[in-house]
Amino acid sequence: MRKMKKSDSGTYNLPVRYGPEMRVLIVGGGISGLTLAGLLQQRGFRPTVAERAPEYGSVGYIIVLWPSGSRILKGLGLYRKLLDTGLPFSTYNVWNEKGEMLRSYSVEAVTEKYGPMISIYRPELINILREAVAPESIRMNTTVEKIRQTRTRCSSRSATAGRSHMTSSSVVTVCARRRAAWFSVMSRSLTAA
Ligand SMILES: Cc1cc2nc3c(=O)[nH]c(=O)nc-3n(C[C@H](O)[C@H](O)[C@H](O)COP(=O)(O)OP(=O)(O)OC[C@H]3O[C@@H](n4cnc5c(N)ncnc54)[C@H](O)[C@@H]3O)c2cc1C
Repeated sequence: MRKMKKSDSGTYNLPVRYGPEMRVLIVGGGISGLTLAGLLQQRGFRPTVAERAPEYGSVGYIIVLWPSGSRILKGLGLYRKLLDTGLPFSTYNVWNEKGEMLRSYSVEAVTEKYGPMISIYRPELINILREAVAPESIRMNTTVEKIRQTRTRCSSRSATAGRSHMTSSSVVTVCARRRAAWFSVMSRSLTAA
């Protein structure tokens, strides 16, 4: 075990054993949570993903992966699937509510140098990423309600299908951002193309 040190930010670095026995709880099984779980599993860890949605459904529209993002799927062995499922795009159009195009940006300078930008339907990207994660490590219908860090561990309170329970982990990582970027404009321009 490593000795606990206080970091610059004032929080304690927990005495974590780095190895497959390290217990990692990932809060949120969206794009970043599933990606992290896949990468950790690839490295021999067995993380648990808590996802509050009861199931993965047809939610969301189009996500655009820049070449730097796609590279992560390459590392997970999922790049071929991404190319087969998504659509490369070279122009970003902005429309107003009357259907008039306001702006058109070419992204070719990026794609020529670094590789394709891929637009993909969010549920399809989620399905691709789920292939990298052992199904039994994803706990659906589980909402993490509280996380507490003590000097020796992280404890979290979750509710699975309404029933509350506590979990103790070496590391808890929160991958549950609010819905920030919606590319409805993008999906519209794809439909119009
Ligand atoms: C349903 C949905 C649809 C989206 N559609 C689009 C889209 O069409 N286009 C676009 O560009 N972006 C969309 N986004 C946003 C986009 O996915 C994210 O901004 C971006 O991918 C960041 O990914 P993320 O993994 O950090 O968060 P998300 O992909 O947002 O995933 C976060 C996950 O955490 C879960 N979660 C949240 N709080 C808790 C909790 N307390 N306990 C357990 N689980 C929790 C959520 O249910 C969600 O599945 C959408 C997000 C969501 C949740």
